[in-house]
Amino acid sequence: MFIIKKERKGKDYYYLRQSIREDGKVKAKTLAYLGKTKKEAELKAKEYKSKTENKTMEEAKRKEITIDELANFCKRKGFIYPSADIYGGLAGFWDYGPIGAELKNNIKAQWWKHHVHGREDTVGIDGAIITNPKVWEASGHVENFTDIAVVCKKCKNKFKVDESELKDAICDKCGGEIESKGKFVPMFTTQVGPIEEDSTLAYLRPETAQLIFTNFKLVQDNARLKLPFGIAQIGKAFRNEIAPRNFIFRVRELEQMEIEYFIDPNKKDECPYEIEDIEIKLLSADMQEKNSGPELMKIKTALKNKIIQLPWHAYWLSSSLNWFKSLGANMENFRIRQHTKNEKSHYSTDTWDLEYKFPFGWKELQGIADRGTYDLAAHQEKCGKSMEIMDDASGKKVLPMVVAEPSFGVERAFLVFMNEAYASKGEDNVVLKLSPKIAPIKAAIFPLVKKDKTLVQIAKDIYKNLRKEWNVIYDESGSVGRRYARNDEVGTPFCITVDGDSEKKKDVTIRNRDNGEQKRIKIENLKDILRNLISGEISFNDLK
Ligand code: ATP
Repeated sequence: MFIIKKERKGKDYYYLRQSIREDGKVKAKTLAYLGKTKKEAELKAKEYKSKTENKTMEEAKRKEITIDELANFCKRKGFIYPSADIYGGLAGFWDYGPIGAELKNNIKAQWWKHHVHGREDTVGIDGAIITNPKVWEASGHVENFTDIAVVCKKCKNKFKVDESELKDAICDKCGGEIESKGKFVPMFTTQVGPIEEDSTLAYLRPETAQLIFTNFKLVQDNARLKLPFGIAQIGKAFRNEIAPRNFIFRVRELEQMEIEYFIDPNKKDECPYEIEDIEIKLLSADMQEKNSGPELMKIKTALKNKIIQLPWHAYWLSSSLNWFKSLGANMENFRIRQHTKNEKSHYSTDTWDLEYKFPFGWKELQGIADRGTYDLAAHQEKCGKSMEIMDDASGKKVLPMVVAEPSFGVERAFLVFMNEAYASKGEDNVVLKLSPKIAPIKAAIFPLVKKDKTLVQIAKDIYKNLRKEWNVIYDESGSVGRRYARNDEVGTPFCITVDGDSEKKKDVTIRNRDNGEQKRIKIENLKDILRNLISGEISFNDLK
């Protein structure tokens, strides 16, 4: 949309116009009369734009989607397939297609950027998937990482329960009576080396965290870290889940993004960072006992009222929520829930889960646990080497504690962003409103007419230039409307069209996925503008 001035009998008149395409030609259409002065015109244009934006937002309402619909959509569009689908798949294992692999990589890259590169006090590592089995003995996984497998007597549904829940548990599908099948260690085992002996038994890691603990001293020394500090890791983990379900929510091969955040145990209440005050639904242990809540509350208020015990927990909860918010997630679909007495691990003083309203209900997205000195102390004892480090401030050696372990699965983050983004426009037309930061394809470049060699050449030159920096595509097949729709469905935020005026004016139109608005911009400015639009430095409305 743009404002134009027309002069008639010595007087100025302002109008709001828009370029539209009809029969393959770009035409300007008057949308509204804006008055006689520039100031009045700018004001009215702003009002008009915001009204139409709200309307288009309403039209493109977020569609509630079931998890099966989402799984079908993901397969159809190349996000995720059942692993080795041609053989019928394997429960709990999934393969990522061309669009899904991009989205997954972008989510991980954004997490790393925010939590590792974006912080002075955190470094990242990449540990092995199979490591010395003593690690899992020391960590307690071999002995305690157990679930109780249960089967419903009525519908034969298999699932797992915590030991504390076994007494009152009923079938989570039909409500029938359940039968316990006993304890079950969900760690996958394998053999290291070609000869099968007991000594070659090893495990596929069930979490990434332990590699952070075993490398703790080396990393702290190499990166010259001073308390408080974090060590982060993104990597695969494997859990032989009894009942993988809900698409990629519970899988057997997963990828975790974890931080172990270490502090001096004597300084548990000293969090030097500003806590961003997010308002969020909160469900305390107390509320759960009284069957009340959740209550909408500011995180700082919960800390002040001692509902959240530690400033560090308030800090990490708001930091984690902020990460999702910065990538376009709606905070109404999030809540924080405190573990009840029965749920809490024996080494933890307080644990909070970040929960999300998935299509199948509120479920854990991320755990923010206080692990104390449990892991470092356990490895110290097992390997016989000190895990203590020198605290420069006190001049004393100290065994650091983990005050928070913001840890979650990439798959669950993937589900959150897909669920948040899925919107419908009209009958079957899906618009995936992914944040440009994580969108698999950042822009699609089209020549308006594929038979026009000049347009094709300009479009291909733009494509080659943009491809040096982002994942972009060139598309010339089908009508422009069809090309828009194809890109809307996989979340491409911007479509760039080269039309009949592009050669002369050295410009193109850029279209905003979320409301279909188009603007003309100079080709020489395209890369800078796109960079700023993707990073969020500017919004589409800021474009002239
Ligand atoms: P749950 O109770 O859902 O089994 P958990 O409490 O065992 O999870 P943690 O051991 O705390 O989970 O793992 C940290 C995070 O890793 C979880 O919050 C979740 O995001 C992710 N995660 C754990 N198990 C799975 C799985 N089987 N599939 C996908 N993600 C998982």
